Amino acid sequence: MMSEGFDCDVVVVGVGAAGLVAAARAARSGARVIALEKNRRPGVKILMSGGTRCNVTNARGLRGLDVVSGPVDPAFSPAARQGARAIVKAFEPKGAFLAKALRAFDVDATVAHFEALGVALKVEANGKIFPVSDRATDVLDALMLDLERSGATLRPNSPALGIRPILDSTGFAVEVPGGEVRARRVVLTVGGESYPGCGTTGDGYEFARRLGHAVVEPRPALAPLRVAADWVGELKGLSVIDAIARVRSTEGVVLEEQREAVLFTHWGLSGPAILDVSRGARVGGARPTLELDLLPAQGRDLLEQQIQARARQGRPAIPTLIPLAIPRRLAEKLVSLARIPPGRAGPELTREERGRLAEVIKRLVLPILGDLGFAKAEVTAGGVALDQVNPATLESKIARGLYLAGEILDLDGPIGGYNFQAAWSTGWLAGLSAANPGITPGATS
Ligand SMILES: Cc1cc2nc3c(=O)[nH]c(=O)nc-3n(C[C@H](O)[C@H](O)[C@H](O)COP(=O)(O)OP(=O)(O)OC[C@H]3O[C@@H](n4cnc5c(N)ncnc54)[C@H](O)[C@@H]3O)c2cc1C
Repeated sequence: MMSEGFDCDVVVVGVGAAGLVAAARAARSGARVIALEKNRRPGVKILMSGGTRCNVTNARGLRGLDVVSGPVDPAFSPAARQGARAIVKAFEPKGAFLAKALRAFDVDATVAHFEALGVALKVEANGKIFPVSDRATDVLDALMLDLERSGATLRPNSPALGIRPILDSTGFAVEVPGGEVRARRVVLTVGGESYPGCGTTGDGYEFARRLGHAVVEPRPALAPLRVAADWVGELKGLSVIDAIARVRSTEGVVLEEQREAVLFTHWGLSGPAILDVSRGARVGGARPTLELDLLPAQGRDLLEQQIQARARQGRPAIPTLIPLAIPRRLAEKLVSLARIPPGRAGPELTREERGRLAEVIKRLVLPILGDLGFAKAEVTAGGVALDQVNPATLESKIARGLYLAGEILDLDGPIGGYNFQAAWSTGWLAGLSAANPGITPGATS
């Protein structure tokens, strides 16, 4: 492709999950590509993701399991697979926007892509897909090598400062410190506004607005919660692997519920279950409450019977009556929350005390003070309005030649690899479309 008067055919702005895929795809489709990244190192969020293990995608979105070369946890039911529908559903009510991007690059194609790049993947019990190595750096290294081999030129330490149309809108100039990059087309993949320390400071919203786009107000999503219980901070580092977190409105309505791990931190509660229900904490004006079932595998009656049976074996300390799935220091706290006097031994436990203990284990109520905001939110909800973007190409309907992918779009999904999948799929489609303007990928027959 010729680029007279231009530095390149396609400039990709922001080299995170979506930008890495978009730049490599565009270059492999024959475009001359320059990829501008604000940071010294692209893809910082990939490194931090999934507790530095990188939850690449989710097996619920697979059609077949044979694309995964690593182990599939026997607890993951193959019947849970729904193909692209699972991803679309995860992004409801806006998921339909993703259907075309998923047609271009679905979960099977994503898994096959990483496997071909040398990243063997495995499926965990809850469907989350991780590298067999459990190393997010393997995922980033593979994508970086792919970018390099694609022929795209990476420019790190190059923050875009502005984007303006040039030459009667047949191209764009991206302003960078000390100059500009002139390109026929732009793929905007600067991400959202969460974890600003990673370089994602919401720059893209202003760029998009100036090019005529509406932006749905960005809000933190998948954020840890602050609760009105100081003792939570004292238990920092503890986790309960299997818990149910529920957010309940002041009227008692369950707004969000998730069964997953809960993590105690010095500023409140985190872990997948908490992050997933955190959106409920922002509903309406009144503060909702968080309820934790710390032993969801056991019914309340059975739990009480078990506590009673154990209490009678010698003179056990009360915290030791609580099943081991609950860490000891948390068990001690639960005993005091159940208002059981210190020093009590098993046989002295009254029926009422036993009932109160079972109650705090099965329904620990914690008033929510708020979430930790953009500083610690894993994703940003809101973003560039979807009705102004063509889902078949990801080209802007407002500024022709501008393509948008990843978290900058008004899309946010739950924990489980869904947000990366949206970034991979939209990055792929945007890169492909930007390299082949006028062609709608997959629309041939
Ligand atoms: C702690 C944490 C853990 C997570 N774990 C998971 C997980 O396990 N699974 C999952 O699916 N999702 C996870 N996510 C969410 C996931 O990381 C994002 O949804 C995904 O990275 C979005 O991809 P993106 O390419 O749109 O944006 P990003 O990956 O954020 O990339 C945007 C890039 O643009 C660059 N940039 C910003 N402004 C400019 C500018 N002006 N000029 C040039 N470059 C710019 C940034 O430096 C960055 O490199 C996690 C997020 C966090 C914060």
